[in-house]
Amino acid sequence: MSQEIEPVELRALNELVYCERLYYLMYVQRLFETSIDTIEGKKKHEKRKENSPKNLLDGADISHTTLYSKDGKLCGRVDSIKNEDEQYIPIEDKNGKMLEYPLEKTLFDVELPKINVWDNDLAQIAGQMYLLRSNGHECNLGKVYYRASNRLIDVTYEPTLDTFVTKLIDKANEFKRCKKMPEPLVDSEKCVRCSLNFICLPDEQNFIVKKTDEPRRLYPGRPDGGILYVISNGGKVSKEGDNFSVWTPDEGKSCVPAKDVEHICLFGNVQITTQAIREMIRHEGTISYFSTSGYLEGMTSGIVTKNIFLRQKQFLGFNVPNIRLNLSKKIVEAKIENQRTLLRRNGKADLGETLKFLKNTSKQIDNTDNLDSLRGFEGIAAQKYWENFGTMLNDSCEFNITGRNKRPPKDEINAILSYGYSLLTRDFSAALATAGFDYMFGFYHAVVAGRPAFSLDMMEPYRPLVVDSTILRLVNEKQISKEDFVVFDGGVYMAQAAKKKLLTAYERRVDEMITHPKFGYRLSYRRMFMLEAKLLAKYLTGELPEYSPLTTR
Ligand code: SF4
Repeated sequence: MSQEIEPVELRALNELVYCERLYYLMYVQRLFETSIDTIEGKKKHEKRKENSPKNLLDGADISHTTLYSKDGKLCGRVDSIKNEDEQYIPIEDKNGKMLEYPLEKTLFDVELPKINVWDNDLAQIAGQMYLLRSNGHECNLGKVYYRASNRLIDVTYEPTLDTFVTKLIDKANEFKRCKKMPEPLVDSEKCVRCSLNFICLPDEQNFIVKKTDEPRRLYPGRPDGGILYVISNGGKVSKEGDNFSVWTPDEGKSCVPAKDVEHICLFGNVQITTQAIREMIRHEGTISYFSTSGYLEGMTSGIVTKNIFLRQKQFLGFNVPNIRLNLSKKIVEAKIENQRTLLRRNGKADLGETLKFLKNTSKQIDNTDNLDSLRGFEGIAAQKYWENFGTMLNDSCEFNITGRNKRPPKDEINAILSYGYSLLTRDFSAALATAGFDYMFGFYHAVVAGRPAFSLDMMEPYRPLVVDSTILRLVNEKQISKEDFVVFDGGVYMAQAAKKKLLTAYERRVDEMITHPKFGYRLSYRRMFMLEAKLLAKYLTGELPEYSPLTTR
């Protein structure tokens, strides 16, 4: 069956010339990273549009019009067209500086004119001229305005520009047909300015496959946005202008800029308005709903259309026994290793035998050839770890723990652990969804309706690093006390004060900067969760030969 090819988007010509991989990510995989920069950039652009006829585009005869080429191969919006002497002159408005020193250059076998316009901008303005000419309009001139240089540069029509556009259209269609993504640029300055750097991870990939010696620092090391927690029953979140307004019965009203909120977490009976939900969806945030006791019940995010190819690889890959088993072994090994490290660093008793036991258990995993025996090894390691968890508590600590228990938790530490793991599940669910995965379909935890199995898989190595260590700090530093809990019907539960303290401590922990053991740069734990999801994606799509979760020493 023949596949109809959609017209290439005008804007895509720009990305294609900038970097072929960028084009592939944006227009074949339809990925786009929302950050504070992109939200603000969009707002500025919209403001410029409102103001444009009054300044630069003064006298523009047609603005913001969408054109389709007669041959059906190209379409796109032209921001501004002037009509002078029966000529149509498209004008492209750019934020940056013009090209200072143009050189003679051949791109896609076409010799480009030597003018002060960047190659990618030239592709865009040439595309606009192509659209106008193909619709029978006279167009022998285009202009590119560079705001930072305050210069309007003429681009005179010549037939080579049509050839350039045609070649780009052919290349763009070729990429749409082929399933192989172009490789990332190596040590290119373009990557530093690229909005999809964190999706593409060029330096990390090139480092692992040994094409570069040192990955450049990941920017930003922390996610742009924060998390808005609302834990008071009867609370309400709504949208007021550019802010989210939060009202709770105990604390009244407060406001936070919407662009600064990446996720909203609602615990118990908290209302949220449709306008607030829409705003979150618009800037690709998520909303999580927890029960009063901290159980993650569901999440809201935008339409899941992103990266269908990755989800296809996920569903197929996790059904391949070898891939499933190998990934499961890696995360269980990493979890035991991290549990051992936490005990070694914080245990106040002689734990020599315990540490040896954990090391041996971890080593035996190498020879495991099925998931059931792997679960057995995980279970005996967990039992040892929890038996010894109490050795990490200070002598003066008023809490104790003799083992892990839940539903209901029998002691205060178990109550906090369950709540903390729910927060970690939410963080991993968001990270996996952002990478384009379905967080319900995992490789180690059995798939059960309503259970985010993949999030539970990926967070295993992070339980000791993030949640257990947070709790140790909370109780050892006496930030939390017995009065912060209630005992009810044989179970121990966190009161409101305990939840607030845990949320604050958890947020502090996931915001902490750590040095990545492989890449050497610093990033926060929460950024690390996203990095892990993306590295696993690269493994599943064949861009990386293996995936190894984080372990600390
Ligand atoms: S980060 Fe670099 S290689 Fe990746 S899409 Fe952007 S410019 Fe291309």
